[in-house]
Amino acid sequence: TCSNDMNASAIEVPFATAESLGAKEKLGRELLCVVRALLKKIKRRVMVGDKVLVSGIDWVDGRGMIEEVFDRETEVLDPPVANVDQLIVLAALDRPRPEPFSLSRFLVEAESTRIPFTVVFNKVDLVSSEDVSDWESRLTSWGYKPLFCSATLKLGTDSLVELLANKTSAIIGLSGVGKSSMINALCDETGAKLWNSNSKVEPDVVEETAVESWDSIFEEQAVGEVSERTGRGKHTTRHVSLLKLPSAGYLADTPGFNQPNLAKVTARILPFLFPEIRSKLDEGTCAFADCLHIGEPDCVVGGDWERYGHYIQFLEEVKKREELE
Ligand code: GDP
Ligand code: ZN
Repeated sequence: TCSNDMNASAIEVPFATAESLGAKEKLGRELLCVVRALLKKIKRRVMVGDKVLVSGIDWVDGRGMIEEVFDRETEVLDPPVANVDQLIVLAALDRPRPEPFSLSRFLVEAESTRIPFTVVFNKVDLVSSEDVSDWESRLTSWGYKPLFCSATLKLGTDSLVELLANKTSAIIGLSGVGKSSMINALCDETGAKLWNSNSKVEPDVVEETAVESWDSIFEEQAVGEVSERTGRGKHTTRHVSLLKLPSAGYLADTPGFNQPNLAKVTARILPFLFPEIRSKLDEGTCAFADCLHIGEPDCVVGGDWERYGHYIQFLEEVKKREELE
């Protein structure tokens, strides 16, 4: 557990002495850590999901000091989690009904993170099988292969459990689509438990290889609470935790991306965030190297695809923002 102070409650220690702990028991032990002052000075913040180097471990009290934060593979800010290796873009088939442009916005935002993602439609119980196959073929034409499920009825959640195995995942999507219900359903289904202080944690293996030759220092994935400052003027605290899944994966307990703002998207990058454009560019080359595919001569992309209108709208939006910058 990462914490910026030592005020969090102490961890129950199920072991008598540090000497009685073998390497196996040490693996996956939850430690309450302080962050080395030097790291704070150079503004190396510790995020949930970070891989960190811990020293000075007191195995009896379960405490240590974070010496170093390893370079992140990925960084998601909403929810704030490091090293997420997969996103679940959740939409609902009804209540709210999927709105193609809004769905596209989520897809473009997800694409811009460069983190692999899967589109999942929730609330299958509310619609006909025709509706399901309509959305399936529509998404297929957009270049995605969606999954369908119901969080409340636990339909199709087994394929999601499979999808989450061995990965650190976060769920994103519009408000009301069932993100919290889905996180709860997945926890029920998998028996996932929250890693936090006070919970008596079984010594699950986190990093099988990390501890072998290390004694008082070992590599650990940071879990638990790290306070976040949201960019909305007021400083609010958001607690994110990683749920440890028995299938050796982690799931962020806080969903994100309520309002994708396409902050990382530029006009140059935008075309590559559409699978439809990518596949056209695989087959041929536009006459102009900097073609934006908006009617230039000898453009291989053209406009005969469903989301072309979305593309044009996002392009306008992004260009307008770039002009202001
Ligand atoms: P969030 O805002 O995305 O976290 O959505 P919630 O999990 O709070 O769910 C919003 C509403 O949708 C709640 O009333 C849920 O009970 C309902 N809901 C969630 N999943 C399903 C589902 O699979 N089927 C149906 N019928 N309702 C669902
Ligand atoms: Zn073109």
